[in-house]
Formats: sequence, C-alpha cells, structure tokens
Amino acid sequence: MSKREFQTEVNQLLQLIIHSLYSHQEIFLRELVSNASDALDKLKYLTLTEDAYKSLAFDPRIDLDLDEEHHTLSIADTGIGMNDEDLVAHLGTIARSGTKNFLSKLSGDAKRDSNLIGQFGVGFYSVFMVADRVEVISRKAGEEKAWRWTSDGKSGFEIEAAERDKHGTTVIVYFNEEGKEYASSWKIKDVIKKYSNHIAFPIHMTYDKSEWDEGEKKSIKKNTTEQINSANALWKRSKSELKDEDYKEFYKTLSGDWEEPLVWFHTKAEGTMEYTTLFFIPSKQPFDLFQADFKPGVKLYVKRVFITDDDKELLPTWMRFLRGVIDSEDLPLNVSREILQQNKVLSAIKTASVKKVLSELQTIATNNPEQYGKFIENYNRLLKEGLYSDFANREALLELVRVKSTKAVGEDGTASFTSFAEVKDRMQSEQKAIYYITGGASGQLRNSPLLEIYKKKDIEVLILDDEIDEIVFSGIEKYKDIELKSVNRASAGEDLKEEGDKKKEKEVKPLLEKLKKALGDSVKDVRSSVRLADSPSCIVADEDDPTLKMAQMMKAMGQAGNMPTLKPILEVNPDHDIVKRLANITDDDQIADAAWLLLDQALLIEGVPLEDPAKFVQRLNRVLGRAI
Ligand code: ADP
Repeated sequence: MSKREFQTEVNQLLQLIIHSLYSHQEIFLRELVSNASDALDKLKYLTLTEDAYKSLAFDPRIDLDLDEEHHTLSIADTGIGMNDEDLVAHLGTIARSGTKNFLSKLSGDAKRDSNLIGQFGVGFYSVFMVADRVEVISRKAGEEKAWRWTSDGKSGFEIEAAERDKHGTTVIVYFNEEGKEYASSWKIKDVIKKYSNHIAFPIHMTYDKSEWDEGEKKSIKKNTTEQINSANALWKRSKSELKDEDYKEFYKTLSGDWEEPLVWFHTKAEGTMEYTTLFFIPSKQPFDLFQADFKPGVKLYVKRVFITDDDKELLPTWMRFLRGVIDSEDLPLNVSREILQQNKVLSAIKTASVKKVLSELQTIATNNPEQYGKFIENYNRLLKEGLYSDFANREALLELVRVKSTKAVGEDGTASFTSFAEVKDRMQSEQKAIYYITGGASGQLRNSPLLEIYKKKDIEVLILDDEIDEIVFSGIEKYKDIELKSVNRASAGEDLKEEGDKKKEKEVKPLLEKLKKALGDSVKDVRSSVRLADSPSCIVADEDDPTLKMAQMMKAMGQAGNMPTLKPILEVNPDHDIVKRLANITDDDQIADAAWLLLDQALLIEGVPLEDPAKFVQRLNRVLGRAI
C-alpha cells in the first residue's frame, strides 16, 4: 500500500469546496454520476472505433447501492475505468492549467468564492463535503489488474491492488455527520431525478425497501433494485415536453457549474441534414476562457453516442463560452476524431449553429436588454475576437458588440455601453463617419485633446478603451455604409475642415516649417490642426502607420524588431495663443524649446512615455525662467 499526498492545489480546492459549498452538498451525487456517465461515453466510443475494444462485453449502466443502516452509498459504472497511474493523475492532482491562477483569486469570503468555484467546476472532490472516507475501486478496460484508492480528504490518499470482476469504477462513499441525510433512498431518488434524470444511461438503485407484508401484518425490508432515471438524452426530447427546470439541471450536470445558465438555445434540424444542438451560455465567464488551453464546452455526439468533448474547432474559438451538445444523425458512428475537421457535414452544422446563436443573441439584444447586458458584461470581448477572426459573420457581430462612447451614459450618469445601431441613429446630419478613439483607459481617452473639436460640434466619439480594441476596430472599415474612422489618425481631421481653415493653414505655414526643422527626424510632419479647441498641440498617426500605442504594445510583446521606428505627426492649433505668439518669435533656441514642449506634452497626454524626460524638464525650466 502506498501513501500519497494531494497536490497543494487539491488541498486548496478541497478547503474551498468544504467551506464555500456547504449549502449545496447534494451536488456531490451529480458530480459522481456525471463522471460515471463520462466514463461510459468514453468506453462506448472505443468499442465502436478501436478493434481492440470491439469484442469487449459492454453493458453501459450505473448502479447505486445504498446501505441506509451503515450510511454508505456506492456508485458503480461499467465505463472506461482507471489504473493506478490514472488514479494518481486524476484523483490526486488537478491537471487543468490555470488552476493556480484561479486559486490565487480566492478571497476567503465564502460567498464570493462559491461564485468563483461555479466557474471552475466542482468535480469529484465535492464528495468530501459529505464523506469522511471515500474508496474508489477501478479497473481499466483492457487491463487485468484493479486498484483501490482511499482517502479521508484530509491527509492525502492511499493506493493498493484490489479486485474487481469487470472493467469500470466503483466509488464508495462513507457519509460523515453532515452527509447522513443522503443515506436515504428517498433523498437519493430525489437528487438523481433533479440532476441526472436525462443522463443517457440507466441508473439503477439497490436498497432495502419497506413493504407491507400481508401475512406478517407488518412492514418488512426487502432488498430491491429499481431504475431511478429516465435515461434518455435530454436534447433529443421535444421542446414542448421540457420544462425550464429540466434544462437548468441538465446544464448543471453537463457543465459542473452550479449556477443557472444565462440562456439556452435548443434546435432540431430536419431535412437535408438532421441534427440537434443544445447550447447554453453560462451566466458567468468560465474561468479559463482566456487561457490558450481552455477546455471546450461543447460535446459532439453521433446518434446519441459521445464522440468528443475536446475539439476546440467544433465551433469558432470566439464562441468558446458556449456549453452544450451537438448530436448529428448523418455522421458515421466510427468517425475518427482526427478527421472531424475536414468533415463536410460537421462544417455545415458548424456554420448553421453559428448563425443560429448569432440570431438568438440578436433577439435577446432586442427583446431583453437586461439579459443582454449580462451577456455583454461577460462576453463582449469574445464578440470582438469574432469581429477580428470571423469574417463571414462580421456584420452580425457588429450589431451585437457593445462599445463605450462620449454619449453613452447610463441613468445614474456613469458610462454605459451602446450599439453601433444607436450610434448611427445619433449621427449629426453633416457627420461623415463614425469616429472612435483608442489608446488608453477610458478616463484618459475622454480627456484627450483629440476629442476637443468633436465635443464642440457635439459629435459622438466611441471610447475604445479595451486593449484589443485598436487591433480589432482598425480592421473594420464600415458599419453598414458608414466609414469607421480613428481620431488618432491624420485623415479623420480632413472631415472636419471648414471655410477659413485653408487660410489659417497658410498663415501658420512658416511657423510649421520652423517647428519641423527643430524636431527633425522625431516627427513625420508638423501640420495645422482643425481638431483642437483648448490644447495647443496633439499627435496623430499617419494613415497606414500603427499608432504609438500599438507600437508600445508590440514592444511589450517583444516584437519591436518587426516594426519600423514610428514617427507621429504633430498637429498644432492655429487658434491657440501660444501658437499665435510663436509665429512672431525669431530666436531659433526659443522656437526649438517650444517645438519640443509642444511635442512632448502631446505625447504625455496620449500616455506615451518621453524618451528623454531630463531634457523635457530642462526646457520647461528654461521657458519658465523666461516667463517669470
Ligand atoms: P472532471 O470530471 O471535471 O474532469 P473530476 O474531479 O470530477 O473532474 O474528475 C477528474 C478525473 O477523474 C476525470 O476527468 C476522469 O478522468 C477521472 N474520473 C473520475 N471519475 C471517474 C470514473 N467513474 N471513471 C473513470 N474516470 C473517472
């Protein structure tokens, strides 16, 4: 017998589960049954696809054995089973990446943490809420040896050789004081009905049933076995038969989330292609959504046979928030996971499913703004990823994505989100484009000098403050037939030119030449600005250049080598006092100081760090010295 310690993360997770989920103890059964069902799914797939397993006698079922008197419950499946290595790997460690990061977010506040753990998925370890000892006896399909894993959920676990007639896993739960209430056939039936009624395999329970004995004239116990779930795949049932509760509980079983889903879409396609999809959107972001090796949430079935839950391309990656099932009637049962990607049927299901989800989301956005608000709170960023990567659905995604803007203010006066449709509705009659600003936090962007003229003209500007916004929206030319323009770029200014601007430009030209000479190679050009009201200067990017902020990001990602050195365009405000007075200065040193201060202040306000802060301070002091 060998004694092992749990991985630190398992200990932490155990603590968390025991302390935060005590009011949801019953989910232990859901988790164990769902593991048993997964194990059956996995073996079923192998018996259909792998020669070595085809001759295996496989009777997929889950059997519960309840001993009310001794407070134990065993859950046995005829599934894939685990050998000693598997037991250590699966029931002693948490292999999912991002676990450390997830655990570090926990606060110790039970209520907050219990919300987080819903996003993580509770799993097997939840059994220690109700048990002070758990035994797992398992034999892997195709192997001779069986193993026993035993733990009290505190001091690690032990593994030893054991006996088991056939492949599969038996989990024996020794209920603790709090768990005793589950040593009741009535209670177990109740919990199974609630969460696992539509598990696709039959669940039988053996227990001592009280029956009235006519001869003895008293109630006697009779050992009985009954099927206690309906064992049909929920998604194959007709919508009219299913109640909201059925969907909600099925979602919980499927996802391990213990909160209700935000919404679900159940579709049956009949005709040239026959398939069923049932998609759920979790009410909170799954914790690994933004990790490269996120766990996909949609399972593929063929005629009710589970094929895979590990295909990241079953749906576009930006849709990785979905949980659910795709069940096709047209794919061959022995479809290999490797060729799924090139499969025509599957790619047609994928296309149709994406369209369906997009249109359902649009319906929610129109009819249920509150619910849609919750969706946006959690998944707006993924819609943006879609805008960037899913060209075919760009139009629909542009309708769905939400952005901040200078005019989007909630009832309480704080910034809120708006849609492109609303922005279009609010356009001024002479407005030529939809404008946006990028490159910093919302507060900083709102105070940018680049917005001055738009404020003056009461033109709405989108405040794109998410760090991916610049990359996403610079790739989008139009919303419907309206151009999208970045006010960080030179050309947006062209739209704003008025009568008289030409004249001002001409007047200020000699000064511009001087400033340009003083700044030399540090700028691409110095121009007269039409976008400034109160500030003397600002910087913009030339049309095809990356903005300075984008250059900073590339540098942070270690990609500066791939970028040409960036030169901004400096724009100066011909109506500003400083600029007007500068026009009369002849001293080259004074012009140089002013030129650099105009550039440096414009960079600073954009949040671009100065290359030589010492020089900036020297100049500032020289100018102050002259002024005082
Ligand atoms: P999850 O099911 O989310 O992966 P769990 O903690 O519930 O997490 O289970 C961890 C792993 O242990 C499973 O992924 C599976 O590989 C294995 N496992 C658990 N129960 C069984 C079972 N009854 N049969 C076979 N493997 C199992």
